[in-house]
Amino acid sequence: MKSGLVAARAAAKALAENSGQGNSALTSFLPDFRQTWAGQELWKVRNFRQAFQKGFRAGVFRSGLDHLLGGRLPGRLPMEADHARYKAGASPAKHISFDGKLTFDRLTDLYHSGTSHEEDQPCHLVVLDPEICTTRCTEEFGNPCQHFCPAEVYDWRGDEGLHINASNCVHCKTCDIADPYQIINWVVPEEGGPAYMGM
Ligand code: SF4
Repeated sequence: MKSGLVAARAAAKALAENSGQGNSALTSFLPDFRQTWAGQELWKVRNFRQAFQKGFRAGVFRSGLDHLLGGRLPGRLPMEADHARYKAGASPAKHISFDGKLTFDRLTDLYHSGTSHEEDQPCHLVVLDPEICTTRCTEEFGNPCQHFCPAEVYDWRGDEGLHINASNCVHCKTCDIADPYQIINWVVPEEGGPAYMGM
């Protein structure tokens, strides 16, 4: 909520100044947000997840030390990109089984989420360069969207290419972050989304 307030102020300021500089007029958002209590809290834990990349023990030691120092341990650790764990030909979910009582397959979970969208609205998931899906992405990462999307929106059909079941989308925005080429453009749909009534 705090970041939303700061973003709204930055947008209002840009509109009032009518600077005509496009997005560059909004660059005050980040420094302004870092000045707030929320920005200061997040700065202290900015290296938490990165600390665990070298294993659990190293992570506990480094993040614990950083916590004791109030986030002042020098440097900002590099973070492995989310898509780096995917390799062409791999099937990350192959070993997972579901008992149907406490754990469920993706489509059952999707049903429980109560997700619905008007079918005739424009697709809110736009692949900016579909050619990459069938060439580079297949060769380099094995089309990871079919694995990381929790709602089976991305239906990879081999020679037929990629089918997008946009009405399944639960608005988690994982694809916006985890797509190796950053070519999935997630925009707010006209209406609809998850309801989570049955969970
Ligand atoms: S936002 Fe989440 S549910 Fe929707 S398409 Fe992207 S990964 Fe799938």
